Amino acid sequence: MVREAAQGPLRGKAATVRSWPLWSLPPAALAFVLAVDVAAGLAAVWAVVDGGLGTRSELVSCLALVAAALICVEVVRRIGETTDIAQDLMAVWTLPIGLLFPPVYAVAAPVLDRCWTQLRVRPSPVYRRVFTTAGVQLALLTAGRVFHALAGSAVTGSAWAARPAVLLASAAVAGACCATVTAVLVATAVRLTTPETRWLALLLDADVVQLAGVEVCGGVVVTALVAQSPLLILAALPPMMMLQRSLSHAQLRTAARTDTKTGLLNAGTWHRETVREIARAARGQQALSILLIDVDHFKAVNDTHSHLAGDDVLAELARLLEDQLRPYDILGRFGGEEFVATLPDTGGRVATAAAERLRRAVAEHPFSVGDDVVHITVSIGVAGDRGRITDPTELLAAADAALYEAKAAGRNRVMDDAGPI
Ligand code: GH3
Ligand code: MG
Ligand code: MG
Repeated sequence: MVREAAQGPLRGKAATVRSWPLWSLPPAALAFVLAVDVAAGLAAVWAVVDGGLGTRSELVSCLALVAAALICVEVVRRIGETTDIAQDLMAVWTLPIGLLFPPVYAVAAPVLDRCWTQLRVRPSPVYRRVFTTAGVQLALLTAGRVFHALAGSAVTGSAWAARPAVLLASAAVAGACCATVTAVLVATAVRLTTPETRWLALLLDADVVQLAGVEVCGGVVVTALVAQSPLLILAALPPMMMLQRSLSHAQLRTAARTDTKTGLLNAGTWHRETVREIARAARGQQALSILLIDVDHFKAVNDTHSHLAGDDVLAELARLLEDQLRPYDILGRFGGEEFVATLPDTGGRVATAAAERLRRAVAEHPFSVGDDVVHITVSIGVAGDRGRITDPTELLAAADAALYEAKAAGRNRVMDDAGPI
């Protein structure tokens, strides 16, 4: 009886552990995530054994830097709480901790920062938060080693006045290492989870590189200031908060332009950009076409595989369509399972041939839904501007009529506004 009572909660706990989202990762991704977590744990033990706990003034300086990081996190929260905006400049405050203080602080500070983010800004699956924390810890410890290897052990106060160029260059190289380690760890985990994501997009996306550059520069400046006096954190805080605000506003602008489920332009932005493109085509007497693309019997995908699986199919379809179109074509999600593409400088047969290429690519593509594969088809209505139309709504109406005919004729086909191709 006593044993049964003790086993009840134990069994409950085992069931809870088994239900963690961590276990749903593909095996390679799971192994990688756990390896990074364990490596960070071992590094934490080493940090305490090797570097000790530091002095009281070092502890106070680190706490002040963590407090500054949390103030910036609060700025993100206030601006982004109604959206999914969560890009922060945390490294500006954690880099100095990694470079100037004993390694134990490089282990402890990311834990405080990420716990705060998890509780106040955006809860994400715990395994993911633990992994990013471990990644930042390893990155900061690496940066600290690189900095001391390049700059020597005297890195506070007068050393910066005596050898400013060496210390600044060392901090910049260490900062770049920190950003690279973090980016490579995260990109590897994403790649192992979703193999179709491209390395190039993960590591060399212009926005990501730009943000990393801003963080490293900010981190180097704050490192130089804190090395002189921790009180200078007070001087660094207002400009960094302004930087954080402008960054969040830029992200909000992007979020307002795009459809969250697929990352494509939303209907409003597609409409605005198409108005501009139609005006340009009219000025240059160039052709322009639009394609209205609707998934056939999509309700059946939801009914068979769940609505969430349907969402995954829509996101994969968006990537497929994007890959098939030219960089200057304007692709948007019109709503539901309908997409719309504006093809500048394209008319008549070329437009219907492009639509046919899309149709075939979709029909031949295996969409992955968990362990299953789903096949879908699309019907496409094509309408071309022959120099008379000035409003996308007219083109849309013509494409919609053609799409209706494609559906009526049996689906999985392309019709243009002059009839079947
Ligand atoms: P057809 O177009 O071939 O006539 O059939 P259909 O089943 O695709 O068309 P219908 O317009 O009857 O239904 C569209 C379905 O698309 C119904 C709706 O549940 C689904 N849908 C719309 N938006 C979303 C979405 O964002 N996610 C998912 N998973 N399903 C969606
Ligand atoms: Mg539809
Ligand atoms: Mg449909």
